[in-house]
Amino acid sequence: MGKSAFSGIQPSGDMHIGNYLGAIRNWVVDYNTDESIYCIVDLHAITVPQDPELLRNRIRSLTKIYISCGLDINKVAIFVQSHIKEHAELGWIFQCLTPLGWASRMTQYKEKSADKKEQSSVGLLAYPMLMAADILLYQVDGVPVGDDQKQHVELTRDIAQKFNREYGEAFKVPEPWIRDSGARVMALDEPTKKMSKSGGPNNAIMLLDSPAVIKSKIMKATTDSGREIKFNPEQAGLYNLLTIYELFAPGNPTRPEIEEQFAGQGYGGLKKATVEVVVEGLRPIQEKYAELSKDEGYVEQILKDGADKIRPIAAKTLSEVKQRMGIG
Ligand code: ATP
Ligand code: MG
Repeated sequence: MGKSAFSGIQPSGDMHIGNYLGAIRNWVVDYNTDESIYCIVDLHAITVPQDPELLRNRIRSLTKIYISCGLDINKVAIFVQSHIKEHAELGWIFQCLTPLGWASRMTQYKEKSADKKEQSSVGLLAYPMLMAADILLYQVDGVPVGDDQKQHVELTRDIAQKFNREYGEAFKVPEPWIRDSGARVMALDEPTKKMSKSGGPNNAIMLLDSPAVIKSKIMKATTDSGREIKFNPEQAGLYNLLTIYELFAPGNPTRPEIEEQFAGQGYGGLKKATVEVVVEGLRPIQEKYAELSKDEGYVEQILKDGADKIRPIAAKTLSEVKQRMGIG
């Protein structure tokens, strides 16, 4: 069974523990192999306005985050989406192949454009077709992502199957690889919505937050007024804190063990313990990040090597697509 993975994150803001638990950590644990490819999807970030200087810095910062979290640069390829022009080109082809009905059903598009339909960019609607191109160019087995991206990976499969049916087999049809736990970390201040880069100041714990900031955000996290500590999905705020605790706690405690540990302690005890495990869990990542920040040339080299390694795969796929479609 193959295990080649493709995944990416937008350099649209600072990385939070949702990105880590839902995506990066799974890349590191399960798909840290020679055949896996991790992208910094800058062309997706510009579907909403970005400050150029900030965007440039965030692309480098995200590269350092990938490595600090444990991706092995001697195995995986890490690259910037816009460094390989085939993404935009295949993205356009997929925009032409995809019915408008499919695109307009995407819940993320509906959410992100909700209160500003007329002002939101055409790119925001077209973004899942570019994402399909990102993935399908590399003929991978699967896409490890958080739960919110499941619908886009399914659209990717539909696009691949439509192309294969109409023009002949050009694409491997990839699987969504989504874990049960951590696939949807919720916002601390609004636990019915997912944690997000684009949320307010107390929405997310950022991977580079200091211990004091982590403490302040967790202690302020929204919970109900109950006392009993149980993994009950109906109690969204409590459930979210317990899940964060579970995923950062050393020694992989089971849910019943965690419930027993906090019996009679109230929410305050759980919050304090969660601060501790998150601070300790992020410490090695922050140390590695600081070390990498001493040599920016190193990061540039990694991005160049990453793109050079995989560009031939993208070129081969696109050339076959164009030939099958009669383009060029
Ligand atoms: P934005 O608000 O700009 O869309 P984002 O936080 O959703 O930012 P993305 O770059 O869109 O981040 O997603 C990167 C990866 O992180 C994807 O695999 C996505 O599924 C995952 N992810 C994002 N938010 C969460 C979350 N709250 N819980 C688990 N996984 C998440
Ligand atoms: Mg997102």
